[in-house]
Amino acid sequence: MPKYCPTCNRSSAELRFYGSFCEECSRKKFSEALADSIEITRCKECLKIRVKGQFTAENDNSLEKAVQQLFRKQDIKLMGRSPKEVLVYISEDTGDGRLSVEKRIKLKHVKALCERCYKIKCNYYEAMFQLRGDSSRISKVIRHVEALFERNNEFISKMESKDGGIDLYLSSKRLASEFVAYYKLYPKMSYTLSGQDRSGKKVYKNTYAIHL
Ligand SMILES: [Zn+2]
Ligand SMILES: [Zn+2]
Repeated sequence: MPKYCPTCNRSSAELRFYGSFCEECSRKKFSEALADSIEITRCKECLKIRVKGQFTAENDNSLEKAVQQLFRKQDIKLMGRSPKEVLVYISEDTGDGRLSVEKRIKLKHVKALCERCYKIKCNYYEAMFQLRGDSSRISKVIRHVEALFERNNEFISKMESKDGGIDLYLSSKRLASEFVAYYKLYPKMSYTLSGQDRSGKKVYKNTYAIHL
């Protein structure tokens, strides 16, 4: 006994069926049930997009992941993109086999500020290098600090001439400590209480007096 599609009346002798509907009508219903537009969160400063809670540079791969995280039951493959929309291949396992469609989805960009850009904006710092002594060695240290912090997605938040040297304000005390250990700079350390974290633990900013 052939089945007849309740929407278009074609029979299962002609077309494959998914449940009580023919392939074509099933695909149409599947496509219509999917979102036409989705929100992509983007940092307004560095333009990175949020994927699984992390801001990352936009490319085909990260955009595909950002779209995928909005579709729980379907598998997404990015076929093309423009600033305003993506063309995706969407497939889903149904009880009667796998359904797939190509679909254009509009992108709505939600502006945000990623943690790094937020910190840069408020001149956040955890550590300070007081670099004193030979000016060409100071410049060399600064270049190395810049490279290390850049590589680790951290930053120098401020640079100030002071007492014939440079004060360098740094976003990460972990990296600052690694730096002085690696270059064997033997700094004189001091600590300034800067507040408390959420659990009430005291937070200190580290100052490294470094003579070069
Ligand atoms: Zn049909
Ligand atoms: Zn950013």
